Parts: sequence; structure tokens; C-alpha cells
Amino acid sequence: MTTAPQPLSGEHRSPARGSLNRWWAGVGPAVLPLHPVNETPKVSLCGISLSYQTENGKRLLALDNIDLKVQPGEFVCIVGPSGCGKSTLLHLIAGLHHPTSGHVLVDNNLVSAPGTDRILIFQELGLFPWLKVGQNVEFGMKMKGIAKAERQERTEYYLRLVHLGQFKDSYTHQLSGGMRQRVALARALATEPDVLLMDEPFAALDAQTRDLLHDELERIWAETGRTIIFVTHNVREAVRLGDRVVLMTFRPGRVKSEFLIDLPRPRHLEDVTVAKTAGEVLSSLREEINKSLEEQYGHETLR
Ligand code: ADP
Ligand code: MG
Repeated sequence: MTTAPQPLSGEHRSPARGSLNRWWAGVGPAVLPLHPVNETPKVSLCGISLSYQTENGKRLLALDNIDLKVQPGEFVCIVGPSGCGKSTLLHLIAGLHHPTSGHVLVDNNLVSAPGTDRILIFQELGLFPWLKVGQNVEFGMKMKGIAKAERQERTEYYLRLVHLGQFKDSYTHQLSGGMRQRVALARALATEPDVLLMDEPFAALDAQTRDLLHDELERIWAETGRTIIFVTHNVREAVRLGDRVVLMTFRPGRVKSEFLIDLPRPRHLEDVTVAKTAGEVLSSLREEINKSLEEQYGHETLR
């Protein structure tokens, strides 16, 4: 039985507690006043390292000693230069990769394989063009073994939630890119996972569509109380959406610093406060981008 989403109170989601707090890696886990520490973290990454075997037989250390805790209902954004291991990190939480050392816990249970409590959403949506919108949304639930009546009820519910109630019988090629992204979101939400893992989901969209989807994602997050871990290379997007922004170093990926974003919601990309905060995060990120440019192109750096 699908329960109606319970809107969280504005008080909960709109704290006005100064501008920006920051922790540096090594100081200890960031703890949000919005998500008290005495709760069991929804996701814990404990001393995670991961190295890949490369084609020339060497090992590439992609992630190095990552410690990160995400509280239930928290919206955490992860930023870092290309190749720093953001996708690898999400794959680990999804149970698609295994760490070389350390472990991932969800609700204090060891992650050793994919599970229906977590879902990964990519930029490449993986929608089936031969299925109608409603059938696409039903697909994930079918895989989960949910009975037909329940699937239909949830399909209606989640399509309405993403404002696509009218498009259940359309094919995905009849929709815009932003609408297709919303179908993918509805399909993921319909399986009712606790944790949404989003890997640069809006990177290919035009700016206007992305703005709309930011608004929708923020609203859906508030209404459903899901935990979201959202990867992006766009710092403004991270500050626009996140309760917290985690900045990763260039290879090997480590947690460089964490920024608590306690700006009131709803936020907008063009808010002065969002821009100012993003500027702070960006100056820290720039060092890492420079390291990646140096590695790839020699001495070229950003100022
Ligand atoms: P990001 O998502 O931050 O761009 P990734 O997690 O995709 O970074 O990759 C981190 C590093 O690991 C990169 O240097 C990438 O080339 C390398 N890598 C990713 N997947 C594999 C793989 N399957 N085999 C070998 N190296 C990989
Ligand atoms: Mg990636």
C-alpha cells in the first residue's frame, strides 16, 4: 500500500542559522543539526579505499581512505574534478563495486551486493523506448516482484508526483529531455528505495530544464523524506540542492573538505547567497582541477 507523502514542516527544511559552516577532512564527521548524530546514519563509508586494475597491469588507486556518514533524510552533494572517483563512490554504495579495503554500511548493515533499499540514477536514463511511460515506471517494481495492483497504484501516484500524470500512455520519444528525466525519477521513486544515488543526472539538460528539475527534486525530497546522495561537477548545483557539499580531491579521491549549506529553502541557482557560497567551494575545488589539468596537460592551470 502506498502511503501519501507527508510534507515536512517548513521549519524543518528552512533553518536560518547563519551562512556557511565548514569542516576540514580529518576533523571528524560532519554532523548536521537538521539530522541529529544520535540517529543511526543511513549510509556510512568507513575507511574506504578502492583500486582498479589498469590495462597495463598496474593498479590505480581511485579512492583512498574515505570516511563519510550520511544521515537519514539528508541531501548530500559530492563534487570533485573529473576522474576523482565520484561515480566509483556511488557504485560502492549501490553494491556494484567492492572496496579494496574498508566497508559500506546502510542502516548499520554491511553492503555486499545491490539492494532494493538503494537505487542509482544516471544521466543515461535507461528508459525503454518500446514501453509507454507508465510501463517504464512499472518496470522497476516488476523486477522487485511487486503485485500488479500495487504497481498500478504506485505508477499513478509517482507520475503525479513528478507532474507527468497525463503522460502515462505516451512513449518516451514523445517527451522532452526534462520529462524523460522525470520519468526516470518516478521509476526510481516507485520502488520506494530509502537512498537515491544520483550520478550527474541533469548534466545533459539545458539550463532552463535543469532549473525546473532542481525545484522538482527539492520538492520531492521534502515530500518523501528520502536520503539523497547526488554527484555533480557543478558547484552551484551542489549548493543549490545540498544540505551538505562534500568536496573530493583529484586522484586518489579523498574527502578534502565538507561544507554545511544552511541557506533557507527553497533556493535558486541565481540567489546571491548560493553564488557566494558556491564561490567558496569553487576556490577549494579549483586547486584540485589544477592538479588534474597538470596531470593531463602539463603545466596549464586555472586562475
Ligand atoms: P568520476 O566519476 O569522478 O569522473 P570515476 O569514479 O568514473 O570518476 O573514476 C575514477 C578513476 O578510476 C578514474 O581515473 C577512472 O579512469 C578510473 N576508473 C573508473 N572505472 C574504472 C575501471 N573499470 N577500470 C579501471 N579504471 C577505472
Ligand atoms: Mg562520473
